[in-house]
Amino acid sequence: MAYDSNNIFARILRGEIPCKKVHEDQHTLAFHDIQPKAPVHVLVIPKGAYVSWDDFHERASDAEQAALSRAVGMVARLMGVAEGGYRVICNVGRDGLQEVPHLHLHVLGGRTLGRMIGKPD
Ligand code: 5GP
Repeated sequence: MAYDSNNIFARILRGEIPCKKVHEDQHTLAFHDIQPKAPVHVLVIPKGAYVSWDDFHERASDAEQAALSRAVGMVARLMGVAEGGYRVICNVGRDGLQEVPHLHLHVLGGRTLGRMIGKPD
């Protein structure tokens, strides 16, 4: 999947579309999902133009990779789900049903989340 610089998260990063921010640092932004699937549903994204986890792993600097990892843990604590538990999901590509072609990690929690993988729709 090619990076489309007009994808919705690129537009959020440029400030063209608002978001409900949870956390921001030099390399990452975290904000509430517009259609939450759980009481806590936050998206954590790198600021760089990366489509997928494997793209990020291959091209991002060590500092960017460390920042994304730290941001996920920080968001879990900020949102109060670290103790009760949470799930981190990264949908990639066609089979992962990725909708937005900018790498993002879903942090979900606030209730029991059910089984890990559902049947295809
Ligand atoms: P994916 O299916 O690509 O893993 O997830 C994309 C997520 O982005 C979905 O959960 C969807 O609700 C969320 N989303 C799509 N458009 C927007 C938007 O404009 N603002 C926010 N905050 N979330 C969005």
